[in-house]
Amino acid sequence: MTEALSPDAIQARHSRLGRVRDRMGEEGVDVLLLSHGADLPWLTGYEAMPLERLTLLVLPLEGAPVLVVPGLEAPRVPEAGGLVELRPWSDAEDPLAIVGGLLAHRSHRRLALSDRAWATTAFGLQRTLPGAEWIEASTVTSPLRAVKDAAELAALRAAGAAADRVAAVLQTGGIPLIGRTEAAVSADLSALLVAEGHRSVNFAIVGSGPNAASPHHEPGERIIGPRETVVCDFGGTFALEGDVGYCSDITRTVVTGEPSPEVSEAYAVLHAAQAAGVSAARAGVTAASVDAAARSVIEAAGLGDLFVHRTGHGIGIEEHEDPYLVAGNDELLQVGHAFSVEPGIYAPDRFGMRLEDIVIVGFDGAPDPLNVADHHLAVVDA
Ligand code: ZN
Ligand code: ZN
Ligand code: ZN
Repeated sequence: MTEALSPDAIQARHSRLGRVRDRMGEEGVDVLLLSHGADLPWLTGYEAMPLERLTLLVLPLEGAPVLVVPGLEAPRVPEAGGLVELRPWSDAEDPLAIVGGLLAHRSHRRLALSDRAWATTAFGLQRTLPGAEWIEASTVTSPLRAVKDAAELAALRAAGAAADRVAAVLQTGGIPLIGRTEAAVSADLSALLVAEGHRSVNFAIVGSGPNAASPHHEPGERIIGPRETVVCDFGGTFALEGDVGYCSDITRTVVTGEPSPEVSEAYAVLHAAQAAGVSAARAGVTAASVDAAARSVIEAAGLGDLFVHRTGHGIGIEEHEDPYLVAGNDELLQVGHAFSVEPGIYAPDRFGMRLEDIVIVGFDGAPDPLNVADHHLAVVDA
């Protein structure tokens, strides 16, 4: 948890607040109301616990933003150069009445509320502020959060480098596989993520043999055998001094002994597809076109039916956020966008493989992959 923000982090918050206000104006939003979710730490540095008690940043188009926060949580809100006023509330008070009072003399026709707010918060606010039009806060925040600033790019780079170091241990046989359970390997990957600077592990998928064909397989008691593909997809939130943490997410597939010709050939297709996706990820192209670039390589090899998910997702404070690299998304990629490129090939009941890097669109508009761990199918005979 962030206790104190660095001067750079505070400056970044003030600049984000300016961009949020500009976009509120463009979208005709009178008040932005941020409860649980990643928008709040992105804008204020405060990572609210998902308590039942109301936490709500009340940010009118004009005037000081006020953070209505449970009194017992107030000491955890980092000071951010006067960015927000605090309005701690005691358990004997009605926080919705406080919010109503803050907005009593302000225009509040069109209100934007956190996508991740509790339903009780949404319904309570609707009763407190009747007659308003309600929209998701992501209408304002998502496009802004998707374009990372310099500090965020540095944070993602540090997270990616840490994940690469874990991948290298896996690929060079530092984690024994044969004869062990998926769950044990998952625990080893998790421990290494923490040892490499992550403050929390968000997932450590290990799918072996037929389980590798299930993209989000829950690692279990299956014993890994020889000559199997093992999909390892892991990531966490990298700890940062003086700011909230940013996420890593990487997938490497290894094989426990000489791969069959079928597996080798499929992996060559996957490798080419992932490289095509990465090189297509430039400023000015649609998100959908990156999906198409990766997918067309797999389709051309006759394996299109075995690539059963989108090519990628944005990443930042959250593991999955805008932009999504998926058919139909006509959003244009911009400098500062950060996302995964992760095609997979899944042969039901037999084997599976996925290859995933985080890529940012660099300042020259060209793709800049953050993960450089070996992209070949590593043989781990241990
Ligand atoms: Zn996934
Ligand atoms: Zn992943
Ligand atoms: Zn991913």
